Amino acid sequence: MSVLRSALRPLARSAATRAYATAATSRVVNGFVGAVGNTPLIRLNKVSEETGANILAKAEFMSPGGSIKDRAALYLVKDAEERGQLRPGGTVVEGTAGNTGIGLAHVCRARGYNCVIYMPDTQSQEKIDLLRMLGADVRPVPAVAFDNEMNYNHQARRYAESLDNAVWTNQFDNVANRNAHILTTGPEIWEQTGGNLDAFVAATGTGGTLAGITRYLVEKSEGRVESYLADPPGSVLYNLVENGRLEREGTGSITEGIGQGRVTENLKPDLELLSGAVHVPDAESIKMIYRLLDEEGLYVGASSALNVWAATEIAKKKGPGSTVVTVIADGAARYQARLFSRVWLESKGLLNAIPENLHHYITL
Ligand code: PMP
Repeated sequence: MSVLRSALRPLARSAATRAYATAATSRVVNGFVGAVGNTPLIRLNKVSEETGANILAKAEFMSPGGSIKDRAALYLVKDAEERGQLRPGGTVVEGTAGNTGIGLAHVCRARGYNCVIYMPDTQSQEKIDLLRMLGADVRPVPAVAFDNEMNYNHQARRYAESLDNAVWTNQFDNVANRNAHILTTGPEIWEQTGGNLDAFVAATGTGGTLAGITRYLVEKSEGRVESYLADPPGSVLYNLVENGRLEREGTGSITEGIGQGRVTENLKPDLELLSGAVHVPDAESIKMIYRLLDEEGLYVGASSALNVWAATEIAKKKGPGSTVVTVIADGAARYQARLFSRVWLESKGLLNAIPENLHHYITL
């Protein structure tokens, strides 16, 4: 027996090692693109204990680009390739608050395309820096509403139209985004739970995540699995789902990448499948960021904390023994200069939302 094999033998035999061998580590995948998806479903122990339910979260921060938007980015690029809109050396142009851009920048490097990102100038510096490090041409523009021609999406579309061999991937209204979740995230959740889940809940930016997963789970379970929208202040969708009025609930939010002022093409086909909506105040989202860090050792972004709080509300509604699935869309590193800064928390009136015993995590 070789020295290496004999050295590895005791390890291979240990139960602990076997317990840590996961699907992700047991196979070789092909490059960045092959590593997208197949994320673990994490049981959130403390909130599960508290509600008597199983609260499970899809760990999208473990995707190679760091967020759930890697899946959409990959399917948007594949869609453009399949339609013949993108040939080798071409340019991908997108309007994005950050995570889709980061996913696209990775996919573009892996596939040999140029990447141009238009984004509202309200987004965190960490995301802008990362995009530039990934080789993207980042163009921050004033944050104006969608009906204004200077909105970042329209600027992205016009720029793509001015180039040859370029595509505006149009994450909000191109249903390749939603298809990524019908074809990957939904089936993964079904398989990981063995179909034993009662509800899914998630926030919406483009709507791709919520719509795609909802469509897959509701159809696969023949209507048994319920799906809910989790919505931050400032979005119109909570009222739309709950009482049919396209009306803002509250003003702005600290959560980045979610909340919506219109029904996107990605959300439209599946809106009718939703069983309801949960409005999540910023104070609950910020508190859950700190709780997940303290209780589970999970370092998650604000939209993910919002999702988990909404999942606890749905778990209370569905009752003890139920299983509720949600999504950890990304990690906190992209927002840490804000989320862990005392000055920033005070400026948002959120310092008091964080329990005293968790204040030692406020380190910036
Ligand atoms: N959370 C974060 C952090 C995001 O960046 C996004 C996408 N903007 C979402 C949630 C929402 O995902 P989707 O666009 O699929 O609705």
